[in-house]
Amino acid sequence: MKRIAVLTSGGDAPGMNPAIRAVVRKGIYEGLEVYGVYNGYQGLIEGKMEPMTLGFVGDIIQRGGTKLYSARCPEFRTEEGQKKALEQIKKHQIDGIVIIGGDGSYQGSMVLTKHGIPCVGVPGTIDNDIPGTDYTLGFDTALNTVVEAIDKIRDTATSHERTFIIEVMGRDAGDIAVWAGLAGGAETILIPEVNESMESIVQRLESGSSRGKKHSIIIVAEGVMSGNEFADRLKEHTAMDTRVSVLGHIQRGGTPSARDRVMASQFGAKAVEVLLQGTGGRAIGLRHNQVVDYDMKEAFEGKHELDLSMYHLSKELSI
Ligand code: ATP
Repeated sequence: MKRIAVLTSGGDAPGMNPAIRAVVRKGIYEGLEVYGVYNGYQGLIEGKMEPMTLGFVGDIIQRGGTKLYSARCPEFRTEEGQKKALEQIKKHQIDGIVIIGGDGSYQGSMVLTKHGIPCVGVPGTIDNDIPGTDYTLGFDTALNTVVEAIDKIRDTATSHERTFIIEVMGRDAGDIAVWAGLAGGAETILIPEVNESMESIVQRLESGSSRGKKHSIIIVAEGVMSGNEFADRLKEHTAMDTRVSVLGHIQRGGTPSARDRVMASQFGAKAVEVLLQGTGGRAIGLRHNQVVDYDMKEAFEGKHELDLSMYHLSKELSI
């Protein structure tokens, strides 16, 4: 293996930049040439790639987003698009690729692996929902962003004795909601994995206010329903004064936390090591605090399991 490439694909996440840096620098350290592909699979199809230098990835370890840009690329789902990408890979003499993204991006990379271009996946998504790994890059940074927002909202909630409904990201997984809810002391957390009745939610809110609580924080993962929809439903059951705050895309931005930088460095370097063995179809992950590689199929065929003990703990602590 002489020349490898790196790309970022799908939704961006803080930690992608330090992961790119790790792949480029570890690759160069190992005597490889490393190409950066712009705009994910779109750039692969269009041949938008260039050799990376040590300097190119300088001063990005602390930056959110991705210096290589990311994209969703419907064309890569077609045989014609994949053929174009393979032609570009051959033209640029790329021997292997590190894909930084979510399970959808992994699935796309299997096409390339099947055609003889080994690909290794690095988990990059704030949702922490890729099966087979206990951690995905961006989760810690997003979590800290949400907790900071909860703390600020709590100040105004207390001043006005209000109930705040905070909508956070998480279409299919409640990890952000549960971790942020626990860290932010939320009274109620609504996640896609658990169906809680409106009666029990209202009962908890009312028992809190009857013992003199000045505010309540309710976290709603977007996969359950929107914050506004929940506010409308709550209105049917209680006269509580509520406000809704939708955190939105601020959760995807910001300078990567120390944890994300460290994990990205470890994941990126491990991806290069695995590629050097010439094996594709592998994903990098964290299991029992060890950086490991595993069969990439597990990532898109398996199911992510949220640690529900955290959800139950948050309930116990917010009585
Ligand atoms: P996120 O967690 O943000 O959703 P993701 O990597 O799962 O990230 P997707 O939009 O699912 O994001 O996938 C990113 C890109 O990967 C797609 O736009 C497409 O180009 C490619 N891709 C996904 N699934 C496939 C597939 N089955 N075959 C070929 N390419 C795919």
